[in-house]
Amino acid sequence: MYILIQKYLKLKTMVISNKLVYTRKEHTCWGCGIKFPSRSDMSIMTEVRDGKILSTSWCEVCNDFVKKPDFDWYDDIVIGDLRDEEQYKEFKKLHYG
Ligand SMILES: [Zn+2]
Repeated sequence: MYILIQKYLKLKTMVISNKLVYTRKEHTCWGCGIKFPSRSDMSIMTEVRDGKILSTSWCEVCNDFVKKPDFDWYDDIVIGDLRDEEQYKEFKKLHYG
């Protein structure tokens, strides 16, 4: 098990779990950076990112967005990057030409 964990930690990003929850407290969406009140439907993602375990919350819109087939830069998203379409295009151009 230890060796397996070490192997995972060497990968840049690896999603461990992604579950849909009905929140009990407020959460900030990692994609759009908007604060959502308690009792919202959000997706909680637990992942290994650059060797660290990170838990992020995603609103329904952003969660749908990252699931699109042409979406290939999930690893590079920093909180708030998906706030709007313009920002998304700018971000994509900056990173992928
Ligand atoms: Zn969002």
